[in-house]
Amino acid sequence: MDELGRLASNARVTVRRSGAPDPDGKYVVYWMQRSQRALDNPALEVAVQAANLLYKPCVVFFAPVPFYPHANLRHYRFLSQGIPSIATGLKKRGIGFVLRRYPDHHLLKFCEQARPALVVGDENPMREPEHWREAVAARLGVPFWTVDADVIVPSRLLLKEQYGAYTARPRIRRLLPEFLQPVGNTRAKIGWKSPHGLQSLPPDSDLTAGWKLDCSVAPVAGISGGTDHALKRLKSFIRNDLANYPVDRNKPERDGTSRLSAYLHFGHIGPHTVALAVQKSKAPKAAKEAFLEQLIVRRELAINFVRFNPDYDNFESGTPWAHKSLAEHAGDPRKIYSERQMEEAQTHDPLWNAAQRQMVVTGFMHNYLRMYWAKKILEWSKTPARAYQMAVYLNDKYELDGRDPNGYAGIAWAIVGKHDRPWFERPIFGKVRYMSFNSTSKKFDSKRYIQQMEALEG
Ligand SMILES: Cc1cc2nc3c(=O)[nH]c(=O)nc-3n(C[C@H](O)[C@H](O)[C@H](O)COP(=O)(O)OP(=O)(O)OC[C@H]3O[C@@H](n4cnc5c(N)ncnc54)[C@H](O)[C@@H]3O)c2cc1C
Repeated sequence: MDELGRLASNARVTVRRSGAPDPDGKYVVYWMQRSQRALDNPALEVAVQAANLLYKPCVVFFAPVPFYPHANLRHYRFLSQGIPSIATGLKKRGIGFVLRRYPDHHLLKFCEQARPALVVGDENPMREPEHWREAVAARLGVPFWTVDADVIVPSRLLLKEQYGAYTARPRIRRLLPEFLQPVGNTRAKIGWKSPHGLQSLPPDSDLTAGWKLDCSVAPVAGISGGTDHALKRLKSFIRNDLANYPVDRNKPERDGTSRLSAYLHFGHIGPHTVALAVQKSKAPKAAKEAFLEQLIVRRELAINFVRFNPDYDNFESGTPWAHKSLAEHAGDPRKIYSERQMEEAQTHDPLWNAAQRQMVVTGFMHNYLRMYWAKKILEWSKTPARAYQMAVYLNDKYELDGRDPNGYAGIAWAIVGKHDRPWFERPIFGKVRYMSFNSTSKKFDSKRYIQQMEALEG
């Protein structure tokens, strides 16, 4: 096998259109979608290595569109803030950057102009970007490879939908020594020189100007998108919070978690960068393990769920025991809140209202409360299917890290028992695990948390 063939046979790579690179092609193009970074990006790394083997320059094509499902101004602002660090990082490595935006977003049109030898993309298990990749693979005239760049263990190696962390964990752990390795940030051998007349926007352009977007959700103050900001946050977390993570991760009033989820969602930082920095740190072993369990096992279990379960964002994704048990309790009396009452945080429960407020104002809700929040939506909705729909709607609309496999898996866990086991039978919930106000609010300083959320401006 030649060196290019070896690159294509990497477990992270899917060959979506096979064949030899076009010998007359001028570049290797990396179509950046999910992995929006120049640092430690396995898809970019494959593209640069291929370009170096072919003695051609490498160029990144990135073109946001206004119709990404459920994305609103809050999300687009964060995405846009990440673009200058992509541009700077690529320049340092001699890689080109072409930034366009809707309606000039078509990869195929760009390829007609640029004439690539080979196109490389990244992977995202969600259904819409998968359709886009399939459409491109059907129409491109040159080979098209995609790279599973935002997981440590390539998601295809888990083979099928996993029952829970207990089945995924041993498989992932076995493969970690092979895949938890530095990604590499190879420089382009043939530096990029932008051809005359090739259209590209400046990295700090207002990408959403003139777009018809949902502007009802304001951008979040106090957090900015981009690799530079993500790295600062990672450094501060490792220095100040990692050692206490096993305890503080269950204390919503302490803000002791990494707050990296939005950066991971947009690909501004990759899991390799985070995991290797945590491994290298001087924090106690138990703290590192507790954090890596979330970052690797739980996160990659969520990706596995979305990759292998076509119903990942609706009630049908549930486990058979939960469906049966919830159906048996369909007629149980319940207190119902309208969707508007929930969205406006007008329930009788001060803890739930505080959590909802944290999400609406700051674009983030603490993990411990996300569980409680979704369980209560189940308790207060007419049917479990409507509860599922409502939780997805609110989560995707307000969370900066929403529209992500972690969100769909978290909601499926809370409402339809995904990755969980049957518990003692209760009204409404049946055998789905229940969380009560009394026990949840005693596990941390909930009064302080509620005060903190009431004091939020916005
Ligand atoms: C109902 C519900 C909805 C959720 N919605 C989302 C969502 O939309 N987007 C999202 O990224 N996460 C979601 N989560 C998972 C989790 O709550 C967040 O990832 C976490 O709170 C983010 O904060 P952090 O970055 O400080 O996490 P840390 O505790 O610092 O963890 C580090 C990273 O590990 C991953 N991680 C942590 N906890 C989990 C988990 N339970 N499942 C999977 N991965 C995890 C995240 O990528 C996180 O950034 C949801 C969980 C539930 C129960």
